[in-house]
Amino acid sequence: MRPRALLACATGLAVLLMSGCGGASSPETDSPPSPPPSAALPPQAEPAPAPTRSKPPKPPKPPLRPLPAKLPAGLVRTTGVPEAALTFDDGPDPVWTPKVLDRLKKAKVTATFCVVGTQVRKHPELVRRIVREGHQLCNHSWRHDLDLARRPVAEIRADLVRTNKEIRRAVPDAEVPFYRQPGGRWTAEVVKVARELGMRSLHWTVDPKDWAKPTAATIKKRVKRSARPGAVVLLHDGGGDRAATLAACNGVIAALKRDHGIAALR
Ligand SMILES: [Zn+2]
Repeated sequence: MRPRALLACATGLAVLLMSGCGGASSPETDSPPSPPPSAALPPQAEPAPAPTRSKPPKPPKPPLRPLPAKLPAGLVRTTGVPEAALTFDDGPDPVWTPKVLDRLKKAKVTATFCVVGTQVRKHPELVRRIVREGHQLCNHSWRHDLDLARRPVAEIRADLVRTNKEIRRAVPDAEVPFYRQPGGRWTAEVVKVARELGMRSLHWTVDPKDWAKPTAATIKKRVKRSARPGAVVLLHDGGGDRAATLAACNGVIAALKRDHGIAALR
């Protein structure tokens, strides 16, 4: 076939394709018949665009449930005994978790570790060490989704189940008695789902905001100042550089031991 004839063929095909698309998308418009290809197209027609791969359209995400104005009922916020409890969130972390565990072992105290599913998947050996050394586990969601509690109940459930499955892949018979909502952004729905899965919802009473990277001295001062009998103290062994938290560990533990004693959550 001669080049000119080939071009005419290709452009004619392009027009057919394009008018077919337009017709399908607006069947209600009574459009005039297409002019012949030779009249409609300039002599140097551009090639028709490659057809885009058709993916099934994603269903729109349901809107997030609003956060309640105050914390929902059913949260564990104190130990229920005079002693205080230590909790460490966002791990396990290969740098900080072993060091925190060393501090706890030396001080002969146990803590509760609120672990994130994706971290558990990466560091199952650390979950095994946490359990082996007598600490408790708490589900802290699959990927630390701050909005998880506001999502559809089925989505909340799937996230919590997935995280517990990953924990039990690391430690087959692990007990996970607690769930802690990332950011403390609780809803009644997430508390209910956690309960249905056998977990109590663990909040806290003392937050020294170690995640905002204050100095170790500030962390210790904040804990000491606000800890009351039965306090649940929130600290972090993951989610970033935890050097200050680690440096504060010995002082925080000593102060809590002296003022209240430290006990495991029950
Ligand atoms: Zn967290």
